Amino acid sequence: MMQEFNSLTGGCMCGAVRYSINSAPEFVIQCFCRDCQLATGTGHTTVVGVLDENFRVDGAPKTYTTTGDTGGKVVRHFCGTCGSRLFTSGDLPGPLRMVQSGTLDDPNRVTPQAAVYLGKAAHWDKVDPDLPQFEGMYPLEQPPQEVGIKPAPGASPR
Ligand SMILES: [Zn+2]
Ligand SMILES: [Zn+2]
Repeated sequence: MMQEFNSLTGGCMCGAVRYSINSAPEFVIQCFCRDCQLATGTGHTTVVGVLDENFRVDGAPKTYTTTGDTGGKVVRHFCGTCGSRLFTSGDLPGPLRMVQSGTLDDPNRVTPQAAVYLGKAAHWDKVDPDLPQFEGMYPLEQPPQEVGIKPAPGASPR
């Protein structure tokens, strides 16, 4: 299943922080929870889940730490100069980073697989009706296919 993957690259608005993702994402999810609304100032965030080992940062983002739904630590990384939200780390399921897809150099290279925490969505923020939708988090203990989520897409090899 080894298919050619060209790195995904991205960074903040001012360019002080840059990053690269060196393997196809594990998942791409839209999250409508209140924390994502507050952290981004928008209705939802679209995050790209990548393994730590495939993620590289150049620059020194600032961080802000909160406690997530599951009681774990959530560390949000952002540029201290321009304020762009870049990625999240913390006590997530496994050694993952959640990268804000809007900071990719080409956001069109990823495609969301599911929308979560729709119970918190603002009425004006409409979700793609083709996506599997969940009031809260999807059941992590079940295989994604069983709850209607297609396997993680390889990002388009542009
Ligand atoms: Zn910046
Ligand atoms: Zn969220």
